[in-house]
Amino acid sequence: MLSVAEARDMVRAGFSVLSIETVGLVDALGRVLAEDVASRLSHPPVAVSAMDGYAVRAADISGAPVELTQIGESQAGGGYAGTVNIGETVRIFTGAPVPDGADAIVMQEITAVDGDRIQIKEAVTEGKFVRPAGLDFSQGDILLQAGTVLSARDIGLAAAMNVPWLTVRRRPRVAIASTGDELTMPGEPMTAEQIISSNSLAIGGYVEAFGGTPLNLGIARDTQESLRQVLEGARGADLLVTTGGASVGDYDVVRQVMDDDGIDLTFYKVAMRPGKPLIFGRLDGVPLLGLPGNPVSAGVTSAIFLREAMAAMLGLEADDASEFAVLGVDLPANDSRQDYLRAKLSVDREGNRTAHPFEGQDSSMLARLARADCLIVRPPEAPAAKAGERVEIIPLRRGMITF
Ligand code: AMP
Ligand code: MG
Repeated sequence: MLSVAEARDMVRAGFSVLSIETVGLVDALGRVLAEDVASRLSHPPVAVSAMDGYAVRAADISGAPVELTQIGESQAGGGYAGTVNIGETVRIFTGAPVPDGADAIVMQEITAVDGDRIQIKEAVTEGKFVRPAGLDFSQGDILLQAGTVLSARDIGLAAAMNVPWLTVRRRPRVAIASTGDELTMPGEPMTAEQIISSNSLAIGGYVEAFGGTPLNLGIARDTQESLRQVLEGARGADLLVTTGGASVGDYDVVRQVMDDDGIDLTFYKVAMRPGKPLIFGRLDGVPLLGLPGNPVSAGVTSAIFLREAMAAMLGLEADDASEFAVLGVDLPANDSRQDYLRAKLSVDREGNRTAHPFEGQDSSMLARLARADCLIVRPPEAPAAKAGERVEIIPLRRGMITF
């Protein structure tokens, strides 16, 4: 059976990077920058004060306390047009341009004011509390690189660079279809036997967390005809995600539709648990990721394969530098499928993380998935492991967007 790593590589190879568009900064959070961005300004544009106080010539006050004559004022956004000569000072405020002739700022807390006579109580060195022009960055500096997932900090930086819009990757449009005669949407009238299609909503959330736009196509009944009808709505999508019906049962319609002639099936099962029935292929030219119906399986496979697909479309590496924790319990040897155990993480005073797998690992146990902090990865044929051993984990809460 295909390994998780092989299947991921196949998913990645099934996509090309999407086209670009230009958005204003208010719409830029979490978007993937498509071009390097150079600053249109230096920051600060001129030397400015870092304090409220007095602009002085440091040499004048080396014998402090001394008295200087105030000749004017420099306010942020304005400035003082003249020059500070020997024995003179200019009242100045934070962010205001340092006037010609002055080379240091004295905090107002170490001055005493008597009309235009300003007593400076302590000497300061040249450059004190002066932010030189370009301290932060200079015009023309490339401060944001193509491929960056834009954080709130990056957006602030772009604004400070006087770059009001950015060229970003188009968001992937992801159509989501659920399958199952038993399914209904939350809030709808239902019988005791019915099941709520939680996957429809959860997968929409994964898509958004990974930087895409979800389009919910609704629920297909367990017939090929119904499924084909629902899937009509996937035209124009960059990716179609289905849930359920991926296995080999009589009602597993996604698999049946994919098995038909002319449909391009890349794989239909992966050596993992949860998530063995997992389809990847193309339907009428649209890449199709057929996830299992069990909510935990759908969640775990989204965290791995949907994330990979989204990263490929956005031109990102799916950053998964391995993370590790110490095992909180003994675990038996694993079989031939890669296991993803839902687990809680605890952190001790030294910052060491211990992963505690939930006792029940049934793939229908959605409440535990929601409460899990991570997945413990158990490679195929892993030998039995003792509490205290190091294990690889995949932290959950790992979307694309950061602040
Ligand atoms: P299937 O893969 O279609 O055999 O479904 C496996 C299990 O997942 C069954 O118990 C289904 O009722 C459940 N299931 C299927 N689709 C969904 C869904 N969209 N939301 C929640 N549970 C589902
Ligand atoms: Mg089903």
